[in-house]
Amino acid sequence: MAEAVLCRDSVELSGRERSVLRSMAVRGTAAELYCELEAGHGHEHAAPLVRGEWWLRWWPGRRVLESVADCGAESEEGVACLAPGGHEGGHRFGPADAGWPGERR
Ligand SMILES: [Zn+2]
Ligand SMILES: [Zn+2]
Repeated sequence: MAEAVLCRDSVELSGRERSVLRSMAVRGTAAELYCELEAGHGHEHAAPLVRGEWWLRWWPGRRVLESVADCGAESEEGVACLAPGGHEGGHRFGPADAGWPGERR
């Protein structure tokens, strides 16, 4: 089975988004973020600011900084999906630093 890969589309936080995060007492986020959805997903990208809590979602012409709970799906081994609820692409089970395990919906 071929390993699927992450989208890795990159996005930079705007000054406004950084100040929103500061006002929410969210710290330590990188200035540049990467989409953590499965490569080849639809047009709505998602990058974690605070895993399991804050996500930046973006698509052509629009971007949203929002608090989204994890997807909640679990693999047969009981490993939780790390992507935000309602995400596009397949579920992403496993540790955050691992590649995409290739699990498909
Ligand atoms: Zn993406
Ligand atoms: Zn999922």
